Amino acid sequence: MTRLLERLSGLIAQTGPIGVSTFMASALYDPQDGYYSRQARPGGLGIGDDFLTAPEISQMFGELIGGWAVHEWRAIGAPERCLLIEIGPGSGALMADAWRAIRADPAAAAAFEVHLVEINPWLRTAQEERLCGLPRPPQWHGALEAIGPGPSIIIANEALDCLPIRQFVQTQSGWRERLVGLRDGRLAFGLSEAPPEVPPAIPPALLASPAGAVVEIAPGLPGVVEALAARLRAAPGRALLIDYGPADSEAGDSLQAVSKHRKVDPLADPGGADLTAHVDFGAVGRLSLQAGLAVYGAIPQAVFLEALGLSARAARLKASAPERSDVIDRQHARLAGADEMGVLFKALCLTTPDLSPPAGFSPT
Ligand code: SAH
Repeated sequence: MTRLLERLSGLIAQTGPIGVSTFMASALYDPQDGYYSRQARPGGLGIGDDFLTAPEISQMFGELIGGWAVHEWRAIGAPERCLLIEIGPGSGALMADAWRAIRADPAAAAAFEVHLVEINPWLRTAQEERLCGLPRPPQWHGALEAIGPGPSIIIANEALDCLPIRQFVQTQSGWRERLVGLRDGRLAFGLSEAPPEVPPAIPPALLASPAGAVVEIAPGLPGVVEALAARLRAAPGRALLIDYGPADSEAGDSLQAVSKHRKVDPLADPGGADLTAHVDFGAVGRLSLQAGLAVYGAIPQAVFLEALGLSARAARLKASAPERSDVIDRQHARLAGADEMGVLFKALCLTTPDLSPPAGFSPT
């Protein structure tokens, strides 16, 4: 038994079952053994080993987002100093690729100051190595709130999917919370005996879900949206959020653990596997509107990337390296294919109100 599994089992034996969000928060962020806190382990921390994200699949993803950032910098008035903020930069691949596109526009490259929000010290080192070619070194922060004021373009790819979620299950006798308890000495899912004490903020459209429906709520989401909104209200800017999940709130159990590119039992090895859940873009949109922002999307990743010129970019890369045509076609299909990342992944843009619509999102 791993240390974290042992500690969680001990805690549950003493105090009773815990919520899925508590389990997920420990599995991801336990200061010693959480998946995103550990400095290193044989083979390095997950990213690349456990799962592949869009920027790890193809340079085209970051390059298109770099071009988007330049366009949006102009759209917010081309401020002389603009913070280019990435939340959860992973290996640094997205920013490295984005910067290649940004460099082509010297005025934008001179204006952008790169700020990275990263909690994992080992990943910070990886990002530092990857981004040493930037004209000015990036600055790291533990949270978005720690970044000083100023106009900003904010990027977050697969960052919100690690927000811990609570799960509620509709039963014949009303809502119950899904809990992690012990059965025969092993972690196992169960349901709370009584309805949750504080009624959860279940989206109104899902309140009448049929028995058996699972509804997920990320208690940390309002705080994240408020941090973004505080920036975008104080100075002009945009936030581009890309993640997997439905465009509007829907029922479904999306808790997933991935290790070595395979789905594994989420309870089997807390801290050893990445744990994620779908992002409820409906909830992100509603919270952002309430916070005074303008919201564009969520639209499928394929629609967003094609609007930014993915096909043209792929054609140019193939023309300059015909021997890589098959590889580039494959990357294109992974990013935009309907049965790959093209539809399940969505793009959403939050922006300071009263600005022109962001590129890639048709006006709504
Ligand atoms: N955006 C990257 C990596 C996604 S993995 C990509 O597309 O490849 C999630 C990233 O978010 C990792 O860098 C992880 O360490 C970081 N992270 C996770 N939780 C975080 C939090 N609460 N605050 C800041 N960074 C976080």
